[in-house]
Formats: sequence, C-alpha cells, structure tokens
Amino acid sequence: MTVLPNLSEHYSDPKTYPPGVAFMDGQYLPISEAKISVLDYGLLHSDATYDVVHVWNGAFFRLENHLDRFFAGLEKLHMSIEYDREQVIEILHNCVALSGLKNSYVEFICTRGMSPTFSRDPRDAVNQFIAFAIPFGSVANQEQMKHGLHAAISSFVRIPPNSVDPTVKNYHWLDLVRGLYEAYDRGADTAILVDTNGNVSEGPGFNIFAVIDGRVLTPKLGVLLGVTRQTVFDICTNLDNDCSAVDIPQDQLLVADEVFISSTAGGIMPVTKVNGQYIGDGSPGQITSQITESYWDMHNEKNNKFVIKYLDEK
Ligand code: PLP
Repeated sequence: MTVLPNLSEHYSDPKTYPPGVAFMDGQYLPISEAKISVLDYGLLHSDATYDVVHVWNGAFFRLENHLDRFFAGLEKLHMSIEYDREQVIEILHNCVALSGLKNSYVEFICTRGMSPTFSRDPRDAVNQFIAFAIPFGSVANQEQMKHGLHAAISSFVRIPPNSVDPTVKNYHWLDLVRGLYEAYDRGADTAILVDTNGNVSEGPGFNIFAVIDGRVLTPKLGVLLGVTRQTVFDICTNLDNDCSAVDIPQDQLLVADEVFISSTAGGIMPVTKVNGQYIGDGSPGQITSQITESYWDMHNEKNNKFVIKYLDEK
C-alpha cells in the first residue's frame, strides 16, 4: 500500500472548507489545497464525468455499482485514466482513511484535462483523475427528512438524452440550477424537471419516484440511472412491491399517493408537497417509510472488502 502523508492535523481550512482530503496529480492533499487549472476543459466546457459514493459507519455502500458507472462513462466519453479499478478503490479508501470521516461523501472525477498547446481537439487533452472525501451531505436537511420536501415542477426541460447522455454522470447542471431558483421563487425547496414530452425526469442531484395505487413508479428515460434508484428496485423486489420504470406525466405526480426522491446524498427522501399541494395526507407515506428503513438496514450488511481501515485503527 502507498505510504500515506499525515494530514490529520491540517486536512482542511476550517474558515472556508469542510474537513476533507483529496487526491490529485498522484498526491493526497488537504481539500483546501486541491485545485485544478483554469485551462482544464472540465471547467471550461463541463467536459468531465464523475461519481459519488457514500461511506456510512466506516463502510462504502454499493461501491461496485458506482465504479461500474464511472468506468462505463469514461469509455463513452473517450476518456482514460492511469489507474485501474483496484487502484481507484485504494485511492478512495485512502482519501476516507486520511480524512478520518466515518460518514463521508466521496467524489471521483475525470476531467478532459488540458493540452500544452490549448488545442481544441479533445483528443489532445491529458485526462485528469481527481478524488476527494468530505463529510456526508444530503439533498434534504433533517427537518425535510422528517416532514418531507416541497418540490416545484419546473417549467424548464431537463437537457434531452439525445443531446447529453444522462447515463454518463455529468456536470450539465445549468437547467437544474435554473430550476432551483424558479422553485425558490415559488416558495419550494427543490425542483423537479420535465422531459421534452412533459413527463417527469429528475431533479438537482436526485431521481424521482411516485407511488400510485400501490405501484412504485420512476421515470424510464432521460435520467441518470441512479445507484440509489437501483437500490429502490432491489428493495421493492425484497418487499414484494411492484416497482417499474415508466413515463410519468407531470399531472400524475400531483395526484400520486406518495412521492419520494433518491440520491447517494441522503438516500430516500420524502416529498410531501408538489406545487404547493399536499401529496396524500401531507406526511411521508407508508411505502416511502418502509423503503427508507430497508435502505438504511442494508447499510449494516457489511461487505468486508469495502470497510475502511482508518489510520488510528492500524
Ligand atoms: N440524477 C442526477 C442528475 C444526479 O446528479 C444524481 C446524483 O447525484 C442522481 C440522479 C441520483 O444518483 P445516485 O442515486 O447514483 O446518487
């Protein structure tokens, strides 16, 4: 294993940064020192792919699924990194171990990078791999987890899949951020974007589910195939609930019995109001609560391979 620097004393700048550790240019750094070039096309063109996995109680959750998605994305974008899968696992592990965080949000990124001649030909750029571990973060705060989020269905359309492949996790977020500001103006907490046919798509950092007549439904097309979304399918299979990927017209969401969102950043989160109207009786629904409970129970089924060895435990 690589010799790790001792970053525990100064792994962040508490005034401007969360605690955390990054890996870039082959080195582990305090998060406050991890900076990319202004000439990196990851910044200039949003030309990048990434993934986020979380660590809960000192163990990665579904790391294999996140790695599968990341490496598939690299291939689709004609990118390559100098680390293989096992080396990426070791880097992610080290970032978390160095940070000492038991619950962590772990992001790994490949940017197109830059070329010494500032060539506009993407094939000339040297792709760059970056990873970091910071404290676990959630789309919903504690209050929203308990009582549910208020979501506004946006008038903006999520960037269509024939423009940007949504199965490659990406930083094309201007539509999502635009949706957020529109939602705040309407007094909501977050936004639900629609697709070009007016069906529900996804929101800023999450997939969307509606429970209608006992069936758990989620949009089929034009969305990131979320790892948490897949976990919901798996949970529904275990619970004998019907879960299907279908088109969901936006009007159906307003009359759904339950609505929830899913993300690595927060897990399963209830939505109890859409466009100012209560969903069901206005409190998190029974199926949502069951799925949430199963989701967190699954975190105790430890896959030993992905339990973090923290530096103070060695
Ligand atoms: N959709 C978008 C646009 C996202 O950015 C995310 C996560 O960041 C998701 C869905 C949920 O994906 P996952 O469950 O893999 O975190």
